[in-house]
Amino acid sequence: MRRLLALAVSLIVLPTATVLTLSNPALAFNYGVCKFASGSIKWKDATRTAGYSTAAQNAINAWDSAANSLLTFTKVTSGADLVVADGNFGRGFGYESIALGPNQTNLVSNCGVDGTWINPIYAWVNTYMADAYSVPKRQSAFAHEIGHALGLDDSSAQSCPNIPIMQPSTYPRFDVCGYTGPRPDDIDGIEVLY
Ligand SMILES: [Zn+2]
Repeated sequence: MRRLLALAVSLIVLPTATVLTLSNPALAFNYGVCKFASGSIKWKDATRTAGYSTAAQNAINAWDSAANSLLTFTKVTSGADLVVADGNFGRGFGYESIALGPNQTNLVSNCGVDGTWINPIYAWVNTYMADAYSVPKRQSAFAHEIGHALGLDDSSAQSCPNIPIMQPSTYPRFDVCGYTGPRPDDIDGIEVLY
């Protein structure tokens, strides 16, 4: 809200098109289920091998640097708001990654009446599929799920360079565009949420 107010004030002071910092207003981000109560986020690395840990840390770093002062990620070992984890969801699962609450509960059941999470959110990468991925490709999946935890929903933009990290399909997001962290459209969403 503070950000919205600041934007409104700057529009009054300098009513020109250049004031708008939204990178591409035509490509709207989508709001997700819920968000963190603040942009100061405590995160825990619950990955089990270096190939996933590096990808998780790099995904956090990508969000931290792209969102500038809006988001700050602090690594903790307990009391985390966000847990980044790898797990084998098996052949029938069908997704490379997913964001869930504790004990595999869905996101909706972990959202409070004020629109902020009431439990830690887990950004999972499914090792059944991702064991065959490069570290950057795993990072792309982690960064996508972290976006859900931050409050963004999937976005359908299909082509580089406008495709956001919130594009749910790995093929255009990573295999074609090579994106491993948030894109301008994703940050537009964060600017409104935090
Ligand atoms: Zn998604």
